[in-house]
Amino acid sequence: MTSANTENKGYFGQFGGSFVPEALQEVLDILEENFLKEKDNSEFIEEFKYYLKEYVGRENPLTLAKNLTKQLGGAKIYLKREDLNHTGAHKINNAIGQILLAKRMGAKRIIAETGAGQHGVATATACAMFDMECVIYMGKVDMERQALNVFRMELLGAKVIPVEKGQGRLKDAVDEALNDLVQNYKNTFYLLGSAVGPHPYPTMVKHFQSIISEESKTQILEKEGKLPTAVIAATGGGSNAIGAFAHYLEEPDVRLIGVEPAEAPSLSEGVPAVIHGFKCYTLLDDNGEPKPTYSIAAGLDYPGVGPEHSFLKESGRAQYVTVTGQEALDAFVLLSKTEGIIPALESSHAVAYAVKLAKELSKNDIIIVNLSGRGDKDVEQVFNMLK
Ligand SMILES: *Cc1c(COP(=O)(O)O)cnc(C)c1O
Repeated sequence: MTSANTENKGYFGQFGGSFVPEALQEVLDILEENFLKEKDNSEFIEEFKYYLKEYVGRENPLTLAKNLTKQLGGAKIYLKREDLNHTGAHKINNAIGQILLAKRMGAKRIIAETGAGQHGVATATACAMFDMECVIYMGKVDMERQALNVFRMELLGAKVIPVEKGQGRLKDAVDEALNDLVQNYKNTFYLLGSAVGPHPYPTMVKHFQSIISEESKTQILEKEGKLPTAVIAATGGGSNAIGAFAHYLEEPDVRLIGVEPAEAPSLSEGVPAVIHGFKCYTLLDDNGEPKPTYSIAAGLDYPGVGPEHSFLKESGRAQYVTVTGQEALDAFVLLSKTEGIIPALESSHAVAYAVKLAKELSKNDIIIVNLSGRGDKDVEQVFNMLK
């Protein structure tokens, strides 16, 4: 019903695909072939599960937010604790999966793009662990704003290359990484950070992040003996959300809700267009260029969104809503006070919508919120916003 046609170059309805120069397409074809081969290889699966357990710290809990539930007086709220992963967010799941694939493909060198630095740090971490050369492309403007994350990556042994072209932002870093890949594909693997980009990346990233809902489904059945009424996740590029939704896609009674920042509402207000090598709902300016966005959560600040989310919106299987930066900030404080859990500002968007929805539902309903990351990284920013 909702599954994608992956035979057809990763199209999800009209979305996805691969709109890239021929030289790059050849590299992506090799990547697809290797991914399809390895994903069902029992040795590869075992290796992935081994590192998720021993290095990432999975499985992580599905915690009942008892105090928050009581305070709101509606649906029972459970938190899927991606914040407890090593490095503090879901991004490491994908970084481990892709680096294991890279090793099997014989790559010696990993490259990645990063905006705020979170994916760069996850990649640098995995590279340190697997003893791979690591090159991170980062816009010069972003590097100045995220000096501490640049230092983190360097500490982990990565080389961070400032990108001055264009606006010195994420998009320019992606372009540089793709250029590098085309020139060095024989020994280099491009580790992409979200469920976006040309095929096979959205399918591959979903595959590695699906561990989130694989676990949460088993956990909720154990705890409650039934499936949740709704699963809620913050949606930037869409990797934590698609991972949190994956094992519920064929359960039509489970509502799937992606939460976008009102300041970067790609799905809620965008139009279908091709950006960064794939088709998705995207925010365009008057010249038809991707529109700069300004969410308080750096990880949600992207004018496009994964192609599968674009399709799930169009097909009606998932619903996408927005909350404002202020609402996310309130949820950040609320969860900290009621549960002793400081959520990432990205995840706070999902919490904010869960707070609204819980009140409308009954005590028999269950909401799972994907807590994509912890908020330690955001404390200084919130301090400055609240003072
Ligand atoms: C990067 C990030 C996000 C957004 O990325 P997705 O690909 O949409 O998941 C959300 N939460 C946290 C904590 C992040 O670091």
